[in-house]
Amino acid sequence: MEEKKVALITGASKGIGAAIAKRLAKDGFNLVLGCSNKNSLEKDLKEVEKECLVYGVEVLCACFDVSNFSECSKMVELVREKFKTIDVLVNNAGITKDGLLARMTEEDFDKVSLVNFKGVFNMTRLVSAVMLKQKSGRIINISSVVGLKGNAGQFNYCACKAGVIGMTKSAAKELGKRGILVNAIAPGFITTNMTQTINEDLKEKIKENIVLKRFGRPDEIASVASFLAGKDSSYVTGQVIVVDGCLLI
Ligand code: NAD
Repeated sequence: MEEKKVALITGASKGIGAAIAKRLAKDGFNLVLGCSNKNSLEKDLKEVEKECLVYGVEVLCACFDVSNFSECSKMVELVREKFKTIDVLVNNAGITKDGLLARMTEEDFDKVSLVNFKGVFNMTRLVSAVMLKQKSGRIINISSVVGLKGNAGQFNYCACKAGVIGMTKSAAKELGKRGILVNAIAPGFITTNMTQTINEDLKEKIKENIVLKRFGRPDEIASVASFLAGKDSSYVTGQVIVVDGCLLI
């Protein structure tokens, strides 16, 4: 029987990351699921783990902060000890600290940058070293449509998500010749905790500008991640796949 491949997903305790975890479990990947704190681990990640185990895969749950290089490094070592390989990395962990530029604090800029931007460097730097030895791997970065078009009130977040696209394309160019494919998904508005804070009136206005007239579901991002992690995307790298119900054009 073919060995199961291993996928590491950051921010897997809820929302898009949890949906990707469940979908990759269904696809037959052994999983490493990360979240930011002990509370999320006990409350949410263990639930996600339960749903993944139904598919007969192995799951390692861990709490590590993607913005902390040494925590990420220890985590990657732990994964190598348990599973030996890392075939897929999904850089999904993300946060928002929205506000108009005129009122944005340095702290809010730094915090968002550390998680959404430096976090992608940390994990890509460490996991690509494992993949380079294997001469194979897939890296999937969760960017956002606002990284392509900008958004008032999200100067910090948009800058990071645009930066993630730059990292995706550069990594694809550096790593492709060693069998590592790197792509980004740019979701539009997806129903998760992150978009729960948008008030109902604004939600209706946003929907008017979406051709499909609704927010997306986390599983609709997960199915694209499944494609990018699987055999059918073997000639796809350096791409940004927009999944937004037609909001951008
Ligand atoms: P969410 O708030 O539901 O989940 C975020 C996850 O990230 C959680 O599991 C959390 O534990 C984890 N996380 C946060 N900080 C972390 C840290 N420092 N270290 C490790 N893990 C950390 O959000 P979501 O909507 O599912 O977002 C997932 C990704 O999708 C994010 O990168 C987000 O920017 C992106 N995205 C979301 C939307 C949307 O509309 N929801 C749209 C475009 C892009």
